[in-house]
Amino acid sequence: MTKSELLFDQARKVIPGGVNSPVRAFRAVGGTPIFFERAEGAYLFDADDKRYVDYVQSWGPMVLGHAHPDVIDAVVEAAEQGLSFGAPTESETLLAEELCRVWPNMDLVRFVNSGTEATMSAIRLARGFTGRDKIVKFEGCYHGHSDSLLVKAGSGALTMGVPSSPGVPAALADHTITLTYNDADAVRQCFAEIGNEIACIIVEPVAGNMNCVPPVPGFLETLREVCDESGALLIIDEVMTGFRISLTGAQGHYGVRADLTTLGKVIGGGMPVGAFGGRRDVMEYIAPLGPVYQAGTLSGNPVAMAAGLTTLELVQEPDFYELLNEKTEALVDGILAAAKEAGIPMTANRVGSMFGFFFTDAESVTNYQQVMACDTERFNTFFHGMLEEGVYLAPASYEAGFMSVAHSKDDIDYTISAARRVFDRLKA
Ligand code: PLP
Repeated sequence: MTKSELLFDQARKVIPGGVNSPVRAFRAVGGTPIFFERAEGAYLFDADDKRYVDYVQSWGPMVLGHAHPDVIDAVVEAAEQGLSFGAPTESETLLAEELCRVWPNMDLVRFVNSGTEATMSAIRLARGFTGRDKIVKFEGCYHGHSDSLLVKAGSGALTMGVPSSPGVPAALADHTITLTYNDADAVRQCFAEIGNEIACIIVEPVAGNMNCVPPVPGFLETLREVCDESGALLIIDEVMTGFRISLTGAQGHYGVRADLTTLGKVIGGGMPVGAFGGRRDVMEYIAPLGPVYQAGTLSGNPVAMAAGLTTLELVQEPDFYELLNEKTEALVDGILAAAKEAGIPMTANRVGSMFGFFFTDAESVTNYQQVMACDTERFNTFFHGMLEEGVYLAPASYEAGFMSVAHSKDDIDYTISAARRVFDRLKA
């Protein structure tokens, strides 16, 4: 038995399914989840000290690679001053200043502890500000697990086959309108019918919770237009894409502006941090300035702020994103070429350092239906083959992959050669 197997047995006795977030349980791909003990740069090390080249990166935050020495130093230094004050401290302002300086259209920002809290709070704010209840989201997009947003969701919800969760009151779910991602006509039609009842649209600007699906040209622009026409707010959920696909996320990349942006993952550098921010008049609607309530015992935690500040400093070094994108391109091109050589039908999407592979005959994948039509059995075999080779991919075909700057050319070449070996076995 591996140590992971032993640890999983132990965990299952006291934690539902042995995990604290469902996708970690490997239900989609089968087998036993790997228990990790430590991480460094591009690598994860499991409980048996086996090394893996990691393309999950804690689901996105570790853009610098794991345990970057500057981030660790900042965290240790902050921890030595005290773990939590539940009162204001300077590092919150410094991180907020940095976000408002770098990010398009962010006048004010509030910190929370997760992406879920960020999107949940942004939705409440949008409802409070507009005085409307209905919200629009897109099928296969995941915005965390708050009630209003767990309707036709992506990520683990999709993997578990419960995109709309029991426990969400029907009366609340009725206020969530779900449309097809990348279908601008459906958005126009919906707004033509009930635009004046809609508080906001929330969108993943690159859908990263149904594998990786970029917006088709004109889609995000349409969302902006219908919001402007109807008085609804546009919430661009950049929890995954923020400081990941570019310094200014998808909004910088595609040139579309949100009224409110939600952030998480990279801005915490691996610590639990989320944020929502944007237009001053909207953000001034939040307590204590305005009537919409939102709070958190550990929000703006000094240790988390220190990790975030150092991470944001490092991603602004010259050519950071160019380098990151080049590495990702090399990986994606290499794996696609290996699949082609082996005669395995596959396509890929990539935006910056987010990527996804699809086992399909289709030339491109642009929506939820196409994602669902891909060969998940083949993905699962590929996943386990790569795992044996010491490459850790997301344990479900509905998740995006992530590159870090710590991945060396050797790591990438190794990954491509491992894929080549696994493809050879797949076709046999
Ligand atoms: N929004 C997006 C786009 C996400 O990808 C996620 C998580 O993966 C969330 C929100 C929720 O963030 P968290 O898991 O930190 O609650």
